[in-house]
Formats: sequence, structure tokens, C-alpha cells
Amino acid sequence: VGNPLLVNVAELCRRSGTRRDIAVDVRVDELAIEDPRWAPDTGVHVAVQLESLLDGIVVEGEVRSTWQGDCRRCLRPITGALNGAVHELYQRECTAEESFPIEGEQLDLTEMVRAVLLIDAPLVPVCRADCAGLCPTCGADLNDGPCGCAVAPADPRWAALDVWRVDPER
Ligand SMILES: [Zn+2]
Ligand SMILES: [Zn+2]
Repeated sequence: VGNPLLVNVAELCRRSGTRRDIAVDVRVDELAIEDPRWAPDTGVHVAVQLESLLDGIVVEGEVRSTWQGDCRRCLRPITGALNGAVHELYQRECTAEESFPIEGEQLDLTEMVRAVLLIDAPLVPVCRADCAGLCPTCGADLNDGPCGCAVAPADPRWAALDVWRVDPER
């Protein structure tokens, strides 16, 4: 019961230099993410070390999950691994730029984990860097070989420029 990403830091804050390891597994729907890149029950593993400083708590470690999508060129469904490194500062009074808040005795990792997922999963995935995509004429998957459609002829207006490029003296 309770949000596993909510960490009580009273003990940590008592002395600076204190460390604590946290390893929790949550699901994407517990992060309030609604995005086609994840099924709601996709697992997310969070493994971080907290270390108290004089003016805050440093959170360092990694967030691991997977994502899903369709290749933007050939439209095949694909999945990928997500392995995001985190290094963030939590503060009672946010004096540093882009630090997260410590509220009361609690530090909430949710926002940080959510940001890693949304930023690190590709928005425009491709199944592989040299995916040939679909033929614009017949829709065949060109990864399976040429489809036989004729290559579109070059625009004649540019052909004249090509001649000029080859022999600028003419
Ligand atoms: Zn592809
Ligand atoms: Zn074709």
C-alpha cells in the first residue's frame, strides 16, 4: 500500500553524507503516463542511490523499461529497451536550477521517473537504421526486395541545371 516512489528521508537528512539504496518496480500506469509507447502494465525498474548533502539530496542511478511502437518507415511493430541514467538534486528550498522538491519528510521520485521515460523513449522509432521503408506507389515493404515499380522520372526543370553543373563553361 502506498506509492513505492515516495521515500521518507528523515533519517537521511539527519546527517549529510548518509547514503541509501532504493530499488523498486512500478508499472507505467502508476506513473500516470498515457502514451502509445507503453502498455499500461509495462514494468519500470528504478535503482537509485540517495545521498544527503548540506543543501539537499542527490539521487543517482538508473531507470529501466521498454517501449513499443511502429517503425516510421515500414510500419512494422517494434519494441526497444530503455535505460536512462538519472542524476538529480532534491531540495527543501529549491535554490539550484531544475531541482526537485522535498516536501515535509518525503521525496517523491515519480516526476523524475516519468521524465526519464518520456524523454528517452524514441518519438520516431525505426526498426533499424537502414530500413528501406515502403514503396510510395504500391506500398510494398522494400526490405523484402524491390517491388518492380518504376523509379519516378527526374523533374525536367532540374535536368537543365544538371547539365550546367557538369559543364559550367557551356
Ligand atoms: Zn522499418
Ligand atoms: Zn512499388
